[in-house]
Amino acid sequence: MDIKITKTTTPKAKPTGKLGFGKVFTDHMFIMNYTEGKGWHDARIEPYHPISLDPSAMVFHYGQEMFEGLKAYSGADGTVRLFRPEMNAKRTNETNKRLCIPQLPEEDFVEAVKAIVSVDKDWIPKEDGTSLYIRPFIIATDEFLGVAPSKTYLFIIILSPSGAYYESGLAPVGIWIEDDYVRAVKGGMGFAKTGGNYAASLIAQVKAHDDGYSQVLWLDGVERKYIEEVGAMNIFFKIDGKVVTPMLNGSILPGITRNSVIQVCKSWGYEVEERKISVDELLDAQKNGKLEECFGTGTAAVISPVGKLRYKDDVMTINNNEIGPLSQKLYDTITGLQWGKIEDTFGFVVKVD
Ligand SMILES: *Cc1c(COP(=O)(O)O)cnc(C)c1O
Repeated sequence: MDIKITKTTTPKAKPTGKLGFGKVFTDHMFIMNYTEGKGWHDARIEPYHPISLDPSAMVFHYGQEMFEGLKAYSGADGTVRLFRPEMNAKRTNETNKRLCIPQLPEEDFVEAVKAIVSVDKDWIPKEDGTSLYIRPFIIATDEFLGVAPSKTYLFIIILSPSGAYYESGLAPVGIWIEDDYVRAVKGGMGFAKTGGNYAASLIAQVKAHDDGYSQVLWLDGVERKYIEEVGAMNIFFKIDGKVVTPMLNGSILPGITRNSVIQVCKSWGYEVEERKISVDELLDAQKNGKLEECFGTGTAAVISPVGKLRYKDDVMTINNNEIGPLSQKLYDTITGLQWGKIEDTFGFVVKVD
């Protein structure tokens, strides 16, 4: 892929103080067009700028879009690292297939990510726990109100320096098990990383927040009995010494952190089960003192310990509302690989020049 690079002549001031998440963007962006018959073309890096679209552009009406999320980490050794970007490239194409968006060569995805991160390398924050959040996305741009797959698209990558997810150690969160609304069903697009899934989830998120819970845990869309995943995280339990997580069934997002946690746990000799988990099983395990730990996994937080799970009138408190030893060890290990503090025996890390 040939990437034309135009650098800004008016670089912005870098943020100072607390970074937060997703509000500050770097000096440049990657853009590439797709046109039916021509394929993906005109890969370029340009100064960060607003995009102009016709109000009839399809993405505004029928939601044909996808996104990804990954991070670049600045190591203590000065090396910039990505975490398994080829998995994001692969997942992009799985999402694209479901949404009738054209396939994007996986090596081009990784090359584009590396190129834009390299151009804006100075924007990667260096303080402990910070990173550069990378947001690739594709939108349908045909000017047409008919319902059909678009014939033109834009693939864009923007970057946002982000602060440490945990300001003062890994604090357990309270989670609301949603028994009314559902996020996805088998045959739907739950496995795809697309805005529509998030639009469908907001109402339950608001409800959970109003009740003092920070996230929603979704149940299966048919029986509302089996655990699926949290808002933007997959979910794990340690039950009676075993690591257990819902199996990928088409309505769960196949998280890269999830996949990595499974590999790391297995390498430590844990038995890992990917299977159906009912709420009743959790309530039983809790009653019998066997629900040892619960944590969410995702790129943003890496590991998010869960201290409280609410289901209807039951509130399960897990591990005294404190972070468990496995959650802590997984966090230390995966972030250790990302920041280059631990030797990468898994082959997870990709360096950026
Ligand atoms: C992105 C995402 C995850 C986590 O995936 P990672 O690849 O680990 O960041 C989990 N659930 C949903 C719905 C997501 O969108």
